[in-house]
Amino acid sequence: MTDRKGLTPRQQAAIAQVEEFGAHNYLPLPLVIESGEGAWLTDLDGHRYLDFLSAYSAVNFGHGHPALVRAAQEQLQKVTITSRAVFSAPYGPFIQGLAELCGKDMVLPMNTGVEAVESGIKLARKWGYEVKGVPEDHANIIVMANNFHGRTTTVISFSNDETARHHFGPFTPGFRVVPYGSIEAIIEAADANTVAVLLEPIQGEAGVVVPPADFLPAVRRFTREANILMIADEIQSGLGRTGTTFACDQVGVVPDLYLLGKALGGGIIPVSAVVGNADVLGLLHPGQHGSTFGGNPLAAAVGLAVVELLKTGEMQERSRTLGAHLHRRLQALIGHGVYEVRGAGLWAGVDIDPYLGSARSVCYRLLARGVIAKDTHTKTIRLAPPLVITEGELDKAVDALADALTEARAEAE
Ligand SMILES: *Cc1c(COP(=O)(O)O)cnc(C)c1O
Repeated sequence: MTDRKGLTPRQQAAIAQVEEFGAHNYLPLPLVIESGEGAWLTDLDGHRYLDFLSAYSAVNFGHGHPALVRAAQEQLQKVTITSRAVFSAPYGPFIQGLAELCGKDMVLPMNTGVEAVESGIKLARKWGYEVKGVPEDHANIIVMANNFHGRTTTVISFSNDETARHHFGPFTPGFRVVPYGSIEAIIEAADANTVAVLLEPIQGEAGVVVPPADFLPAVRRFTREANILMIADEIQSGLGRTGTTFACDQVGVVPDLYLLGKALGGGIIPVSAVVGNADVLGLLHPGQHGSTFGGNPLAAAVGLAVVELLKTGEMQERSRTLGAHLHRRLQALIGHGVYEVRGAGLWAGVDIDPYLGSARSVCYRLLARGVIAKDTHTKTIRLAPPLVITEGELDKAVDALADALTEARAEAE
């Protein structure tokens, strides 16, 4: 049950309704949001909070970004859903723009992130059988320990989060899990039937885990030499979050396939995609794969506006410069209740000293100070504010964190 201490009857009633009628597959923070603008969220009682979660980076450009809302509103007046049985006006400009942003030839549009992952897996297998010459049904894909790629039965088949897997089997075969950050383990696990290495360039759900600087370049070199596809799941790390368009850009790596989602929908509508070259995406023919909603006109109009926003580089620049400031300030908390800080750009995993309590207990203290942040695992708080946040707002949140840690320390002693 969500802790409802100190909430008004109005918010208590709203939460009770959700607990009665909704499946309990999340453990939300105890507040009910009514509206949002930029980096701010407002609850039913008019309290304002700085949003340091950004809906797991689906809201990279802030709540209600004017250009994105305008694109959605204009498309709402025209046509919203057509299915791909016909062509729609915004679809072409969206996929051309996205392909160009990625420096690739082609786009396969889907809706949610996990559908992009599933589509990437299907494409890699198809490429393996039709291009690489892997014997039918023998393809394997190398994935990383502590990955998070979504929630479908195939994707949890190669998760090592037991909570996410328990009682959901039987699982899909064809995956080999190796430790994250070890090129030796990938080389060891690969054989003639390996069609892809699938990884997050920075592992978000695992706690914003950044691999050694030479890891992704080594994966790129090895996969190229061994005729294996490199698939980067940039659903959370991509689209400006780390200070570059893609986290892979940080180390000058270009994967064969990008998996995109979350922020691609501008915080308005689910939009995801696989982006790659014609040697892989060109293998799909009518009827072999699809989605009723994938590439719909509303999604395409919003997705195109997101691409336009990223083309200017302004969001990436904000993430880079403000991110440097955020990380400087977080580093200064090490030894004051924090023992490690990881990340890039406006994205940080902050490990809390265990004697101060769980990361979640610190998130409650942050909430009481007007900052929404989520724990991931027991010891890490993930900070991922919208990239439109100002330096003053960042400072406010870090001050709140410092204060929360001081309070926790006083109570622990
Ligand atoms: C969120 C996420 C997904 C799944 O996206 P959904 O839209 O929730 O299906 C996949 N991969 C990564 C890295 C993610 O962060």
